[in-house]
Amino acid sequence: IVGGLMIFLGGCLPKSTQKSNNNIEAKVDALVEKMTLDEKIGQMFQASDFHFSSDEDLKNAVKEGRVGSFLNIQGTEKVAEIQRIAIEESRLGIPLLFGRDVIHGYRTVFPIPLGMASSWDTTLVKRAMRISAVEAASMGVNWTFAPMIDITWDPRWGRIAETTGEDPFLTSQFAKAMVEGIQGDLNSPSAVAACAKHFVGYGMSEAGRDYNTTYIPEPLLRNVHLKPFKAAQNAGVLTFMSAFNDLNGVPTSGNEFTLKTILRDEWNYKGMVVSDWASIEEMIPHGYAADKKHAAEIAVKAGVDMEMATTAYIENLKKLIEEGKISEELIDERVANILRVKFQLGLFDKPVENAALSSDTILAGSHLAHARELARNSMVLLKNSNHVLPLSKENGSLAVIGPLADAPHDQMGTWVFDGNEEDSETPKTTFQNLLGNRLHYAAGLEYSRDKSQKGFAAALAAAKSSEAILFFAGEEAILSGEANSRGIIDLPGIQTELIRKLKKTGKPLILIIMAGRPLDIQQELEMADAVLYAWHPGTMAGPAIADLVFGDYSPTGKLPVTFVKGAGQIPLYHYHKNTGRPASKSDVIHIDDIPRNSKQLSLGFKSMHLDYGIDPLFPFGFGLSYTKFQYSNLKLSNKVLNSNSNISVSADVQNIGNFETDEIVQLYIRDRVGSLTRPVKELKGFKKIRLTPGESKNVQFEIAPADLEFFNGEEFATEPGDFDVWIGPNSVDGLKGEFAFE
Ligand code: BGC
Repeated sequence: IVGGLMIFLGGCLPKSTQKSNNNIEAKVDALVEKMTLDEKIGQMFQASDFHFSSDEDLKNAVKEGRVGSFLNIQGTEKVAEIQRIAIEESRLGIPLLFGRDVIHGYRTVFPIPLGMASSWDTTLVKRAMRISAVEAASMGVNWTFAPMIDITWDPRWGRIAETTGEDPFLTSQFAKAMVEGIQGDLNSPSAVAACAKHFVGYGMSEAGRDYNTTYIPEPLLRNVHLKPFKAAQNAGVLTFMSAFNDLNGVPTSGNEFTLKTILRDEWNYKGMVVSDWASIEEMIPHGYAADKKHAAEIAVKAGVDMEMATTAYIENLKKLIEEGKISEELIDERVANILRVKFQLGLFDKPVENAALSSDTILAGSHLAHARELARNSMVLLKNSNHVLPLSKENGSLAVIGPLADAPHDQMGTWVFDGNEEDSETPKTTFQNLLGNRLHYAAGLEYSRDKSQKGFAAALAAAKSSEAILFFAGEEAILSGEANSRGIIDLPGIQTELIRKLKKTGKPLILIIMAGRPLDIQQELEMADAVLYAWHPGTMAGPAIADLVFGDYSPTGKLPVTFVKGAGQIPLYHYHKNTGRPASKSDVIHIDDIPRNSKQLSLGFKSMHLDYGIDPLFPFGFGLSYTKFQYSNLKLSNKVLNSNSNISVSADVQNIGNFETDEIVQLYIRDRVGSLTRPVKELKGFKKIRLTPGESKNVQFEIAPADLEFFNGEEFATEPGDFDVWIGPNSVDGLKGEFAFE
């Protein structure tokens, strides 16, 4: 714990790292000079247990320098022993990178990244990632495959759970916070290399079906998908991961345009690139490589330094050199990128016995307290009719029902390799501890997909004997995450039927939804008196939910993604373009209201769905509170911005309710006319402010010319013209002003 605290104080990239860069380059060059070709190719292989017939076999491979990194090796002692062999018994003593997916916590599990993003709080998220890294490092992990900074517009895609949502600006802020949190002080024993993944465009997988094709025109690629990766690079991320997707016809693990032209040549990225799991070999089924040798050639030329899990490199790189298809200098370049990370992480200087640190940081009290705080901040209040929430803790009886009320595994969400369900505190446990016999619990359904009504009677009985109902609905962890895409995004199983029956009891019905994606909850929303969207909140779900339900805190979370009314509305996101025929609410004609035999002309010819209309279920940035905020007095410091000046935009935000809490104030702009059409709104800033009842604060944002810049097909430029600007509580409401750029 003391070590952990020191690390928090230590901040991110230390100055000494910058100073020693030249030194590191010299060391890397000297080492490459000494290496045989086989040793070089060995560094480019990231292996796992399954590559070896026995432990002996694995250890020999390490001794002989045939492996540069391992992923998912279990057991702290085993990791330490393998590292010892690499350092002490291999010819050149090159330490290994031990990679692991520490995505939203290690043993202390934080909310899924989409939940973390709902906090809009980079400080809390940075600290969560530091805690995760400290815990993981204590078990020998020195590299984690996070942050995942793909942008997606598609709630069908299971990996939306791992993203920080749809917005490039918000995701860029989290990219920076997460990289800084994971890596910590590179000189400290708990430094862990971060990995910006998946480069790039994976979140656009067609139909939200995992691993699917993507088509992303260059302006969209640069204005949206590449932004968070640039932010990660600026934050000093040590590694990048290439992706699975075919991008515009060229798989991203063999894509010279993204890996070489952009990443290396334009951005001058000096770190290392690892492939995704088998993504080099998968260029064969993609139809881009004829065989493994061809796949290795394409990937190594494009810029993938290390191959994860498959063996195209170790089997073929030497042959490719012999055949003159690639040069040994190219290999030297790739190996240097890998060794550089090992030097930057200080692995060459770490005493072997330090390879695994003390594990008494695991599940430390301060870690659990932080998991509770972040979980609380990640929940979004979507509805609260007649102020049904918060409830009183002191009196009254409560029914706790639903398949997610006591699901210690599922509340942790996807990508939890190291979290144990025994460490989870479920809502059932928390509420039982708080209310004793005033709590009536009945699951109603055993799990989210359960189709048996056999628990309904007990659930209804619990509801009838209570003054209010808390129904924990949602999805099990396995229904989101990698490969777990859904075409139908409603509450699975017969949860809705049970909710309908509970509604009929006439008791106040509060829905708490735990899910890995923004579900289509239109029907349930109508039936419920209150809806709190909790995502998968992690280890401390129970206490965090109780904090909000009983009003010890107000919900403050805001949506990092648009909620759709149904899968047919996908994609729907706040920075879409306008059409030539934009519909307003008054234009919306519902399918049921069209008279039979009406002529085409009567429909108004507007861009809308006859069944959904034009609005989302909830817009990006939306979230309610136990208090109310009033926005007024929008002011711009001047009306004209030029290349040498900024303008400041400000508004007063007042707490006009009676609950002290935070508000996330958002800044949006619109570039009215561009040489390429521009989005109807773009997030450009946000601030979390705390207000006591009655208190008012003036919130100010600076807009600089660079904030108006976009890639126009040829270059990034700020174009002269008129802009709209909004300060508001979400992407729809807000005070509007205007300015010009000259
Ligand atoms: C995922 C990556 C992950 C890797 C290693 C892949 O299937 O796409 O995000 O880091 O596996 O587990």
